[in-house]
Amino acid sequence: MAIPVPEPHAVTRNADLVARSLAAVWHPCTQMKVHERLPLVPIARASGAWLEDFEGHRFVDGVSSWWVNLFGHGHPRIAAAIAEQAAALEHAMLAGFTHEPVVALSERLSAIAPGNLGHAFYASDGASATEIALKMAFHHGANRGKAGKDRFVALEGGYHGETVGALSVTDVAIFRDAYAPLLRRNFRVPFPSSHAASRATGGAECAREAAGMLARLFESEGESIAALIVEPLVQGAGGMRMYDPEYLRLARALCDRHEILLIADEIMTGFGRTGTMFACEQAGIAPDLLCLSKGITGGFLPLSCVLSTDEVYASFWDDDTARGFLHSHSYTGNPIACRAALAVLDLFEEGDVIRANRGKAARFDLIAAPLADQPGVRNLRRLGMIWAFEVETDEPRFARLAFESALADGALLRPIGNTVYFMPPYVIDDEDFATLVKAGIGIAQRWGRR
Ligand SMILES: *Cc1c(COP(=O)(O)O)cnc(C)c1O
Repeated sequence: MAIPVPEPHAVTRNADLVARSLAAVWHPCTQMKVHERLPLVPIARASGAWLEDFEGHRFVDGVSSWWVNLFGHGHPRIAAAIAEQAAALEHAMLAGFTHEPVVALSERLSAIAPGNLGHAFYASDGASATEIALKMAFHHGANRGKAGKDRFVALEGGYHGETVGALSVTDVAIFRDAYAPLLRRNFRVPFPSSHAASRATGGAECAREAAGMLARLFESEGESIAALIVEPLVQGAGGMRMYDPEYLRLARALCDRHEILLIADEIMTGFGRTGTMFACEQAGIAPDLLCLSKGITGGFLPLSCVLSTDEVYASFWDDDTARGFLHSHSYTGNPIACRAALAVLDLFEEGDVIRANRGKAARFDLIAAPLADQPGVRNLRRLGMIWAFEVETDEPRFARLAFESALADGALLRPIGNTVYFMPPYVIDDEDFATLVKAGIGIAQRWGRR
């Protein structure tokens, strides 16, 4: 039986698409039953910092569509690069074959990444990059006669993705607890700020204290540890928790001493989000493995990448097939996604974006300042192009109500627990940023404890 499905252009009202979506689509990160009451937001089109529904309601994208968008929606340069590449070579498998976009992207990523990360391995999303880094770290040890190094260390509150391996180094209860029996037990070490989700970074003293505890773990268990994985400078999904770069310097030295690899998960922090191209730069360190995704294509296409040092790469180089890294994904190194990423790197260079963002962020700080005086608002803080604050509240449904309230104010904000944050596309202007701040003030005034 043929089921009539309306043409896309036939959708003129939000309700039509919402009903079809709820019938046919299983949405991510959602208890679907909430949509009995909470309406889905159908998006018809997007441009710059704005999303628009089918009835002309517009929202400033205050979360860069889950942290992926850098230069705005529909950026013509990225769109053109994608169209051009699709017409020339849409895809070819990367085992036994290669192509210009993947070579050029690997060269350019290696050139801008900290340290000596000369070898790029590709996948399609962040969690896959985490899996690759974990497998590489273990296999690297095994290839060097240390197969006993089969456990990982991660920070309290860390988030590295939601596949089974990535979840085993993730410490966000709501994502992890239901699957705990499936997960390998790894080590969890204290977050380097005793203020947890509080004051900006906790300072160097907290960093030294936490590094002391890391040192003790490495001393007692180092022989069984393949790698330490961290989100450099700020934990994203854990609640925009920022910490002092001193921790990364100390962790780097400890990893070296104990032959433990350092994996920097810059899936969220990479591509300028923290004020430098990569967050590791602010600590003056380089990891052994660097995970990238999210902003890598400017939010256009799924692509992720793990950059590795020559030393890690060399341990796999052998006549024995089994010592090679045989991991793969069907779309590894997809040419269209790589071309989108190359266009993104062009935009960074041409616009001197990292520097321009510094000026912009300083202006936005002034616009955001009144937030600090709102009821319940605590720990207003910023790192690069991330602003965050907590709202003390008695409302248990705070995150959901705040999300709805922001939409009514023309802003897409998606609080994590009681943490409200702005992570806008870099192209956002003062007026649109002010819309985000206004929505934040509205939230605090409605639900902040007085
Ligand atoms: C989003 C994120 C991931 C997971 O990426 P997905 O593409 O959602 O699988 C991993 N690590 C960090 C730090 C992230 O922010």
